[in-house]
Amino acid sequence: MDLLEYQARDMFERYNVPVLSGRTATTPEEAVAAYEQLGVELAVIKAQVRVGGRGKAGGVKLARGAGSVAATAREILGLDIKGHRVELVMVSPGADIAEEFYFSILLDRASGGYLAMCSIEGGVEIETLAVERPEALVKVPLDPVEGVSPAVAKRIVTEAGFLPEDHARVAEVMVRLWDVFSGADATLVEVNPLIKTGSGSIIALDGKVTLDDNATFRHPDREQYKESSGDVDLERQARELGLGYVKLDGTVGIIGNGAGLVMSTLDVVAGAGEDLPGKPRPANFLDIGGGASAAVMANGLRIIMSDPQVRSVFVNVFGGITACSDVATGIVNALEILGDEAHLPIVVRLDGNSVEVGKAILAEANHPMITVKNTMDEAARTAARLASEGN
Ligand code: GDP
Ligand code: MN
Repeated sequence: MDLLEYQARDMFERYNVPVLSGRTATTPEEAVAAYEQLGVELAVIKAQVRVGGRGKAGGVKLARGAGSVAATAREILGLDIKGHRVELVMVSPGADIAEEFYFSILLDRASGGYLAMCSIEGGVEIETLAVERPEALVKVPLDPVEGVSPAVAKRIVTEAGFLPEDHARVAEVMVRLWDVFSGADATLVEVNPLIKTGSGSIIALDGKVTLDDNATFRHPDREQYKESSGDVDLERQARELGLGYVKLDGTVGIIGNGAGLVMSTLDVVAGAGEDLPGKPRPANFLDIGGGASAAVMANGLRIIMSDPQVRSVFVNVFGGITACSDVATGIVNALEILGDEAHLPIVVRLDGNSVEVGKAILAEANHPMITVKNTMDEAARTAARLASEGN
C-alpha cells in the first residue's frame, strides 16, 4: 500500500522526523483556509497523487497571498498527472531550500535484504541519477536487526560526502527514518528531497512510503488509509473473500489456479496483446488456489468484472488435485449465480486432470459468454483480441 505524501508527512511527524506542517484541501476555498491557518506568507501547494515527478508535471507550485493560493489550488486540482487525477492538495509553508539531498530505505528484492540509498544530489529523479551518475548514489546494505543505527548512519553520511558540519543532523534524521521503516512495517521509505534550509536545519520535504500489506494485521491504525482508491477497494473485497487478487492496469481479467500459472498467464496475455490495437494487457492477478468451487469462481469473476477497465476474462486452469470437471461445473454454476452481473466474454482454457469431462460440461452448458480454447496461447490471443475489440 502506497501512502499519499501528506500521510507520509503525518507518519514522519509521529516518529519525530523533522517535517514542515501541512494541511490538505479538496477545493480552492479549503486551500485558502489551510493557508490562513498556517499563518505563513509563502506557501507551497502540492498535488496529492500516488505518483512521482509531480513537480515537473506542474503539481507542485509556490503561492504568495490568499488570492494566489486559491488560483494555484484551482490550477492543480483536476490536473491529470500520469493518469492520476488530482482531487486533493496539501498546503505547506514554502521551504527555504539551500540544498537538496536524497535518502531512502527499501526492501531490495535483488539482494533479498534491506538497503539504504543516499545522495547529496537530491531533488532530481533518482532513476535518472542512478543511470547518469551512479557514483553519486551511495548504497549501503542494512542488517535487518541493526538497521540504520547511529554508527551505520555515520557511515552513510561519510560515504555520501555530506559536509562534516551536517553529519550529526543528517545522521539523526536517517536513524529516525529507520524507526519509521521498521516501526510501520514499510518496504520503502524515500525522502526526496531531504533538504538543508538556509539556517542549516535538515527537513524531510517530500516523503514516499510503501507499507508491507502482509503486516496489516498488526497495524489497526492502517484503516485510515483504506477509504481512498477504487483499486484498494477491490483488493480489500478480494482479501475478505480469501482471494489472492492484485489489481493491475490492463483490460484482460485473469483467473488461474496456482501463483506460478497465473504469473505466466500474465506474461502470455501481455505478449498476445502487443500487436493488437490498444495493446491490451492483464487487468489483474488472481489466484483462486486449489479448490475451484462455484462459490470461489463466482467470487473471482465478480471481483474481476467489477473492475470497470476489464473487457474480457481469461480463466486458465490446470487440473491437478482439482479436477477440470469440478472447475467447469464451478464456472457454469458461477455464471448462474452471477446472472446479469456476468456481462463480459470469458475465455476458458482447461488442461490436466479430467480435462475431457470438463470440456464436455462447458460444451453442454453452451453459455453465450464462454469460449473454450485448447491451448494457453490460443486462449490468451482470443482474450486479448476480445479486450481489444471491446474498447
Ligand atoms: P515530486 O516532484 O513529486 O518529487 O515532488 P516534491 O515534493 O519532491 O517537489 C519537487 C521539487 O519542488 C522539489 O525537489 C523542490 O525543488 C521543489 N519544492 C518543493 N517544495 C518546495 C518549497 O516549499 N519551496 C521551494 N522553493 N521549492 C520547493
Ligand atoms: Mn520528490
